[in-house]
Amino acid sequence: LFPILLHFIYSSGTSYTTLPSVLLIGPSGAGKTALLTLFERGPLAQQEKPTVSGPVARTHTSQVASAVELAVSTDNGTPTSYRVDLDAAGAAARRFLLVDTPGHPKLRGAAIAHLASATPTVNLSPSNTSASSSTETSKSKLKALIFLVDAAALADSDSDALASTASYLYDALLALQKRFHRRSGSRAPASVPVLVAANKLDLFTALPAALVKSQLEAELGRIRKTRSKGLLDSGVGADDVVGAAAGEEGEWLGDHGSDKFRFEQMMEFDVEVEVMGGNVVGDGPGAEKWWKWIGERV
Ligand code: GDP
Repeated sequence: LFPILLHFIYSSGTSYTTLPSVLLIGPSGAGKTALLTLFERGPLAQQEKPTVSGPVARTHTSQVASAVELAVSTDNGTPTSYRVDLDAAGAAARRFLLVDTPGHPKLRGAAIAHLASATPTVNLSPSNTSASSSTETSKSKLKALIFLVDAAALADSDSDALASTASYLYDALLALQKRFHRRSGSRAPASVPVLVAANKLDLFTALPAALVKSQLEAELGRIRKTRSKGLLDSGVGADDVVGAAAGEEGEWLGDHGSDKFRFEQMMEFDVEVEVMGGNVVGDGPGAEKWWKWIGERV
């Protein structure tokens, strides 16, 4: 397995070993860094003049993943807003890591390959800038996956944004689908739900969430047809392809008997996929719905 290395900035003496994580992936430019920063600033976002002293707004150069420690409370039944300062509120909080992965296509493979393992963990390697000279990594259990999409870029039919976004999503969903069969003993692996977050809905050019969903489904359907045809063209016998597609470890995403791909087909493999619109900057539905989705799953 290829570990996801984290350049981790210690903000306190807390041990992160047991914190679960939520992985944030998506094409570069989708807004992953912006979302991470928004959630990290959470309680400060409300203040008129945010006085941020910590290492926030790290528009890193996307060579290594970075993570922020966040907290949510579900004491009252529903998750608290990301704007709530849980320390001040004295609420019992559930802490987790939001892990931002590099969007560069060359670096995606490692993150995705990892998703296929039965017990995906995120390896956290302490920052070498930390006072600690420790080089040991700690493991964090993966609880959920957020795939961030630039809904404005998808609306531009001249760009290849739809094709490239869908192909990234295909690989991620296929990896999770493959996990389904990797049982240890009689237990199926704990499911990793997926949130497809359609970002930048503050822009009037952006596709609404329902269209992001249908366009991605159509494109994912095209990709699975092309990929199975690719196997045929590559000289693999037709029987092998049918076998591979029908087999447990096939490259065919979703329901084998279906003509059209639908996200609901992923339920067959215990993968819940939800598409929700929002925005990180500007006026729009905001990011609160995404935060609540996370809060219900960590
Ligand atoms: P990353 O490559 O996925 O980390 O993307 P960034 O977080 O660096 O964001 C890419 C660009 O999109 C930046 O200029 C952000 O300010 C912008 N951006 C992020 N979220 C939104 C949003 O909700 N609306 C708009 N209009 N721009 C956004």
